[in-house]
Amino acid sequence: MSTSPIHVVGGGLAGSEAAWQIAQAGVPVILHEMRPVRGTDAHKTEGLAELVCSNSFRSDDSTSNAVGQLHWEMRRLDSLIMAKGDAHQVPAGGALAVDRDGFSQAVTAALEAHPLVTIARGEIAGLPPAEWDKVIIATGPLTSPALAEGIKSLTGESELAFFDAIAPIVHFDSIDMDTAWFQSRYDKPGPGGTGADYINCPLDRDQYEAFIDALLAAEKTEFKEWEGTPYFDGCLPIEVMAERGRETLRWGPMKPVGLTNKHNPTVKAYAVVQLRQDNALGTLFNMSGFQTKLKYGEQASIFRMIPGLQNAEFARLGGIHRNTYLNSPKLLDPTLRLKSDPRLRFAGQITGCEGYVESAAIGLLTGRLAAAERLGRELELPPATTALGALVNHITGGHIVTIDEGPRSFQPMNINFGLFPHIEGVASHGPDGKRLKGPAKSVARKQALTARAKSALDGWISGTQARAAE
Ligand SMILES: Cc1cc2nc3c(=O)[nH]c(=O)nc-3n(C[C@H](O)[C@H](O)[C@H](O)COP(=O)(O)OP(=O)(O)OC[C@H]3O[C@@H](n4cnc5c(N)ncnc54)[C@H](O)[C@@H]3O)c2cc1C
Repeated sequence: MSTSPIHVVGGGLAGSEAAWQIAQAGVPVILHEMRPVRGTDAHKTEGLAELVCSNSFRSDDSTSNAVGQLHWEMRRLDSLIMAKGDAHQVPAGGALAVDRDGFSQAVTAALEAHPLVTIARGEIAGLPPAEWDKVIIATGPLTSPALAEGIKSLTGESELAFFDAIAPIVHFDSIDMDTAWFQSRYDKPGPGGTGADYINCPLDRDQYEAFIDALLAAEKTEFKEWEGTPYFDGCLPIEVMAERGRETLRWGPMKPVGLTNKHNPTVKAYAVVQLRQDNALGTLFNMSGFQTKLKYGEQASIFRMIPGLQNAEFARLGGIHRNTYLNSPKLLDPTLRLKSDPRLRFAGQITGCEGYVESAAIGLLTGRLAAAERLGRELELPPATTALGALVNHITGGHIVTIDEGPRSFQPMNINFGLFPHIEGVASHGPDGKRLKGPAKSVARKQALTARAKSALDGWISGTQARAAE
């Protein structure tokens, strides 16, 4: 009896990788791509896996960079995107950058040549037909409106966003807790809280005025014409609030009320920046209400003006973009299937990851999961200590959902070391016997995390192969 095909909707980074993984597992796949029949506002060609903006897959350093580690894992898992990226790389120092046309043409050619892949050019303009029993939706940040409407009919209006509103995220261990302190406003515990859930950074009047001056003077990123201006109440960028009046932020996200500085209880702060826990591991904290369109280069230096954040390391900088994505921690099961309709699985940026490589990585995983299901095999998820496992955990459950006013707390995320579980036993001394400090200590930790990830991935691959052979 022939195996019935899995349908993949969207031939971008995630869909192309998913289709490849399914076909390589011996399962037929139909890849539906709407271009060139219908375009998007950002794509320019009809090639699969088109890179819509930069041509970089970012750092290729798999010993001390999280995205480099993800590259390594994907190469170990026969990734089409990585193979064609490697084959079409252009010089870019420690980064992997690619010739975008050569790369996209090579991905397209490999899929066209695969005997188990059929490419169907046309829009899926609504929910996939009921007779398709296994579908991966990988239609990306610019999912066509008709399909988005269909998805919304299953998820509810508020669970599919059309813009992100990203506040910067800081690595906890880079916050100066001799200046900042834990406390919730009025010590209110709130749902699931302790009364000391936020990290508070105090500013005096001069520091606040200097911060506002810097915000007003900073360069902002413009929206593209087709994006429109998606501002709505509760989602104003901080620099727009500052433009509305110098005191606006002090009455908004920086209001100093209900808080007592533990380090200096008799002096009332003039303004306070609050950060709240972002992931279950407690390694990442987001700057509450600080969504922004400031240029990346400006953000780090301006936010380091805030007392307590002078040495802040950012896991993610802020941004606001046109971006269709699900409230995945609520809607998806751990294997990225829609809880309310498990025949539909999601992959790529629509799940709430961010970036070419991360989108392809989630495509890789969903392709393998769907193919294993079709073959009646069980596929365990990769361990949380791998980059792949850390990323998928963030999407489906690692993020802490808050119910404050303002934009939804689950926002797109690149892979970063803050998503990896804590590691014990990192070398504290260098080969010269001297105690490691500052950057050297941080590099030692990153190297320990990537070494652990590599061995966990190898263990997972051998376990998977052994089970398949049974
Ligand atoms: C303007 C812009 C710039 C970006 N720049 C970068 C960058 O520089 N670096 C980076 O790492 N990331 C960038 N991203 C973020 C993101 O990682 C990429 O968009 C990435 O391509 C996402 O991969 P994907 O497979 O999820 O979606 P895509 O690569 O966009 O693929 C989705 C595919 O689905 C197709 N499709 C949509 N709807 C339907 C439908 N109903 N039926 C059939 N096909 C459909 C689309 O035509 C598209 O080919 C950018 C995003 C945008 C919007």
